[in-house]
Amino acid sequence: MKIAKIETFRIPPRWLLVRIETDDGCVGWGEPVVEGRASTTEACVHELKPYLIGEDPRRVEHIWQTIYRGGFYRGGPVLSSALSGIDQALWDIKGKDLNVPIYDLLGGRVRDKMEMYSWIDSDTAEIAAKSALEKKAQGFNNVKMMGTDAIGWINDHKTITTFLEKVQAVRDAVGPDFGIAIDFHGRPHKGTAKTILKELEPLKPIFVEEPVIVENIDAFAELHKSTSIPLATGERNYMRWGFKDLLEKGCVDIIQPDLSHAGGISEVRRIAAMAESYDVALAPHCPLGPVALAACLQIDFACINSCIQEQSLGMAYNKGQELGAYLKDNAVFHYENGFVVPMKAPGLGIEVDEEIIRNMVEPNLEWKSPVFHHKDGSVSEW
Ligand SMILES: [Mg+2]
Repeated sequence: MKIAKIETFRIPPRWLLVRIETDDGCVGWGEPVVEGRASTTEACVHELKPYLIGEDPRRVEHIWQTIYRGGFYRGGPVLSSALSGIDQALWDIKGKDLNVPIYDLLGGRVRDKMEMYSWIDSDTAEIAAKSALEKKAQGFNNVKMMGTDAIGWINDHKTITTFLEKVQAVRDAVGPDFGIAIDFHGRPHKGTAKTILKELEPLKPIFVEEPVIVENIDAFAELHKSTSIPLATGERNYMRWGFKDLLEKGCVDIIQPDLSHAGGISEVRRIAAMAESYDVALAPHCPLGPVALAACLQIDFACINSCIQEQSLGMAYNKGQELGAYLKDNAVFHYENGFVVPMKAPGLGIEVDEEIIRNMVEPNLEWKSPVFHHKDGSVSEW
């Protein structure tokens, strides 16, 4: 079995898929995208073709090491994401070749079903409460909401108060036992973040994500010591080495490697094991498409410390194009009472609808992250 053909597809809303085909007709899919930098990542995937064409795709680890080490320069979002998508596609081929789901190749599943959470809209307190109740009615037991909008470097009490009113509205609507997670996207800085965390404690969020940007790792460690709320981060970290300091410094309770950024199924399996040895939970980041989510779930079913899974169904980015739209059977992502059951099909466990993908390709699709500004016109974190 040899790799014969590699194609990429840029599809709405902001996704990039890679299709790897072998000389005997086996096809594997991966999702090697950096949100907002899809064309750069796509170029990188094509630049890596010489490492792949003619190789045996079942040697997943050998190919991973060849791309990682053979290029001399490594890491960062673009190189890591290109490798991540390729790795997903190779595991998909390996599973299909052996006729087993990937989790069976990782030691078999450790759980019967995986708990999912859903994003809610939170433009106002009313919208946040209504959106959370809708998700509760759909069977979810946990939701995640965005933290504050752009917030000043020092205490910005108006912004904090408005934000707390939203969380209180959600808590009042869904009751005390419902999970509320809050993602700050690293918008606050340390001086503001410590105030926010203190004020949030009585509202009992299940975790707070990126209360500051993770590159400020010492600030993260300080905040971790100051709060009883579990802290999560890791969607912008790449490879084991990107998680090493975070774990060693004891900054985090939940790590969130992205299967399409952190090094693929091969590497996130290793990152999860590293985290387990620090008693840290895993919650793979996934605001992406169906292939990335399938890769996350294969890891979730194989890793004991995986605690909850993000997914993008109904997310603002996806308006007009949903998770299941590119699959022949979108029932694989049917969430019952907030859980998804293991996919039984081989490889990633999904059947990609190639015809729809080829029809939906937008080669010039250019989704970009919005740029946020403070009141004085200076740029804030997004
Ligand atoms: Mg996040």
